[in-house]
Amino acid sequence: MKGTVKGLIDLIFPPLCAFCGTSLIEDNTAEICPGCLRDIRFISPPLCPTCGLPFPLEMGEGHLCGQCLGRQWHFGSARALGVYEGPIREAIHLLKYKGKSFLTKSLVGLLDRGYPFIDYGSYDLLVPVPLHPKRLRERGFNQALILGRAIGRRTGIACEGFLLKKIRWSPPQINLSTKEREKNVKGSFAVADPGAVRGKRVLLIDDVMTTGSTVNECAGELLKAGAVGVDVFTLARAV
Ligand SMILES: [Zn+2]
Ligand SMILES: [Zn+2]
Repeated sequence: MKGTVKGLIDLIFPPLCAFCGTSLIEDNTAEICPGCLRDIRFISPPLCPTCGLPFPLEMGEGHLCGQCLGRQWHFGSARALGVYEGPIREAIHLLKYKGKSFLTKSLVGLLDRGYPFIDYGSYDLLVPVPLHPKRLRERGFNQALILGRAIGRRTGIACEGFLLKKIRWSPPQINLSTKEREKNVKGSFAVADPGAVRGKRVLLIDDVMTTGSTVNECAGELLKAGAVGVDVFTLARAV
């Protein structure tokens, strides 16, 4: 009976693709239409073993990308679900700048469709990248925290949303070079409770990785506070 009622409701108000609004009448269990799904570039090997940048072809064991050869990362590895373009980019924009927080559910739903490269069993804590309180007031929510909590619910790993704090306001990073971004975020994060991090393996969570400066700065602070290792997971990454 319940199924029939749902069927009727779906017929009158067909569920819509969260990414483009197309009717999903043919498959009402999906949250994304086949067109949007096709337009997502999920990241899969071969990739840089450190920063997760996808390589166009197999480069041999341990081959690092150009960026990793020239940089000192505090995190062990970074991985992302998809390339920051197309429906993922659109959805992240709507989420962050238009407050469409319901999109988080659909974005997290994509985890099932991506390459399963995160061994969640090797982490004790999920730590979302925090927003400065001023930014949090403007936006009303932290997209990384919503994402971290959703991953926490799926994996059973504790998500500690207030362990890391943004203590210094930094201007938006758009249009800044890697060097400028590094300077921009330097000293802007702090661990609120080092006791909660000591000896822990942390998976740092954010929505997008661009040059890696923000996650690197956060990872450095977590290590200073005593974390035994920090890896990074973002929904998307710029390539
Ligand atoms: Zn769609
Ligand atoms: Zn790399």
